[in-house]
Amino acid sequence: MKYNRILLKLSGEALMGQQQYGIDAERLMQYASEIKTVAATGVQVAVVIGGGNIYRGVQAEAFGLDRVQGDYMGMLATVINSMALQSALEKLEVSTRLLSGLTIQRVCEPYIRRRAVRHLEKGRVVIFGAGIGSPYFTTDSAASLRAIEIEADVVLKGTRVDGIYTADPEKDPTATRYPEITFDEVLSKNLNVMDMTAFTLCKENNLPIIVFDMNTPGNLERLLNGEPMGTLVSA
Ligand code: UDP
Repeated sequence: MKYNRILLKLSGEALMGQQQYGIDAERLMQYASEIKTVAATGVQVAVVIGGGNIYRGVQAEAFGLDRVQGDYMGMLATVINSMALQSALEKLEVSTRLLSGLTIQRVCEPYIRRRAVRHLEKGRVVIFGAGIGSPYFTTDSAASLRAIEIEADVVLKGTRVDGIYTADPEKDPTATRYPEITFDEVLSKNLNVMDMTAFTLCKENNLPIIVFDMNTPGNLERLLNGEPMGTLVSA
């Protein structure tokens, strides 16, 4: 396998599958089984999952509600998704730990870096819930930050698009995919990879990002086997 320790970022929205809201059981089990396959090869897997399928802080703002309150609601949404993923993995007999950026003692451990690393060394899949635990951030920022903290080799951003394109491929049929691109090119071409905070963390800490299509079964394993896929962003 190409990497020893990975941080897999999954969006909450992807968990909806064909639904308009919430968690699609089939998609959840698909993700769990893909994670199981790569974890079984000895790759240490940490996961950050978003909350957009349930709640985003900006939604509160749109209703004239408090943004900070909305962000905490969004963080709790990520805990719900993380619990679902944990349960799905356990159903497949994968050993897991859920570490949360917000203290929710009954359902998960608090995030402690050394503990996270220890779990990974013991072969457990570690899920980071509640983002970084602070408002005005996203789960992409949490993915970058946690990946840096645990010294992951790469952030794998699983999306429904198979990489970074010259234009939005869902709108522009002439758009072409970059197999590789540098951090500086992403900035100069104003491409949308992650939000700026998340992206800058990766750039400044020289942490490569691979954007790939997580919804095609087997892609995660193929990617880790070194098959060219998605877009690699690096220095
Ligand atoms: N959030 C936050 N701080 C964090 C992570 C998440 O405030 O560190 C909130 C924020 O409101 C965000 C929501 O949780 O909109 C859900 O996360 P995100 O939008 O990143 O989920 P995704 O788009 O990946 O589904």
